[in-house]
Amino acid sequence: MALIVQKYGGTSVGSIERIEAVAERVAKHHAAGDQLIVVVSAMSGETNRLLGLAGEISETPDLRELDMLVSTGEQVSMALLAMALHKRGIGAISLKGSQVAIKTDSFHSKARIKDIDATRLHAELAESKVVIVAGFQGVDERGETTTLGRGGSDTSAVALAAAVKAAECQIYTDVDGVYTTDPRVVDGAKRLDSITFEEMLEMASMGSKVLHLRSVEFAGKYGIPLRVLSSFKDGPGTLISVDNEENLMEAPTIAGIAFNRDEAKLTIVGVPDTPGIAYQILGPIGEANIEVDVILQNVGDEGKTDFTFTVSRNDLTRAEEILETHITQLGAMEWRSDSKIAKVSVVGVGMRSHAGVAATMFRALSEVGVNIQMISTSEIKISVIIEEKFLELAVRALHSVFGLDADEAGDPES
Ligand code: ADP
Ligand code: ASP
Ligand code: MG
Repeated sequence: MALIVQKYGGTSVGSIERIEAVAERVAKHHAAGDQLIVVVSAMSGETNRLLGLAGEISETPDLRELDMLVSTGEQVSMALLAMALHKRGIGAISLKGSQVAIKTDSFHSKARIKDIDATRLHAELAESKVVIVAGFQGVDERGETTTLGRGGSDTSAVALAAAVKAAECQIYTDVDGVYTTDPRVVDGAKRLDSITFEEMLEMASMGSKVLHLRSVEFAGKYGIPLRVLSSFKDGPGTLISVDNEENLMEAPTIAGIAFNRDEAKLTIVGVPDTPGIAYQILGPIGEANIEVDVILQNVGDEGKTDFTFTVSRNDLTRAEEILETHITQLGAMEWRSDSKIAKVSVVGVGMRSHAGVAATMFRALSEVGVNIQMISTSEIKISVIIEEKFLELAVRALHSVFGLDADEAGDPES
């Protein structure tokens, strides 16, 4: 008998029919003697619908009220799933984040889980009940409802798995595992049997939304075996495996290609090429809690230089306002912004032991006529900023040059 946490995403609970199918799957595990905590997302499209309603009233709705609104989506699915299990003669109870309790900080719309009290969970499990928990939501110390950021139900699931020391956390979704890149963009994308935590972390932070970044962080930190599976067809899925000597030795050079459209670029033209200028530009941006991603400072010419950096598209307007107020103070000539950019990253732990990955990447992009605007690297990834309209072309070219296409076997770099 194992204690398992399962999470079902929006598409998996997208209709009554699908909720019934989830109930069937849960019933099977229950019959096999497993103890189950099931985390659910809102029905597909529901979170967007709710955000849309708020948007009709205000462009900047109060974040506390927004959390009160969007947290209802998950409560609908959890109650319906409980009813579907009752119909099958299975004891089940649904719980909101506050009833569990999943305790978070108070940053509405992007709260972080601080602690989970497992007492109630264990009590319900001891009565042979399936415990269904609303994903994406928690409660702060004043009892206010919080949410964890888009895609946050994955993080709810992994955090619950850590709290109850579950044997495995299974993320059921609309694809049958983690692929070499988004299978909706590249037809030839391949499912990976396993991927290391390190690689999955990098893939998620570079934009692969199959897993919420924080869920991967949690799983790595607490050593929770994490698996991504399809809720529509049976199969082994993808295991996010603990990094060890063996799988690092066997790792292909590149595990996958991630991409992100959520980027915008700001350039300040003709700033004085003097010490402290990067700080003067980025200081006020940081103070406004805007995260800066890729940074590029050009070689100076006659004491002047250009300085470019990227931020999330949501933060662009605020970043522009800050530059506008600081431009004269900086001694710069002008600033420009461009939100039609995207970031493409190749990720793989094998990069550590293989030279020439960057050269292969840049050659492949040049062969399809894609201009690289900015570059950033870490030990296991190389990212480039390119024009958004070339994104799919670039992803396909890289997927192919690194031997990831489904019909190709092996890895040309090794
Ligand atoms: P859920 O609602 O179940 O949480 P998501 O839409 O958040 O599902 O995540 C699943 C989606 O992630 C897939 O439909 C797929 O389009 C996308 N995706 C992006 N990158 C990858 C990847 N490398 N492997 C698999 N799916 C990916
Ligand atoms: N329902 C939330 C969202 O759409 C959380 C989740 O599905 O993980 O972002
Ligand atoms: Mg998701």
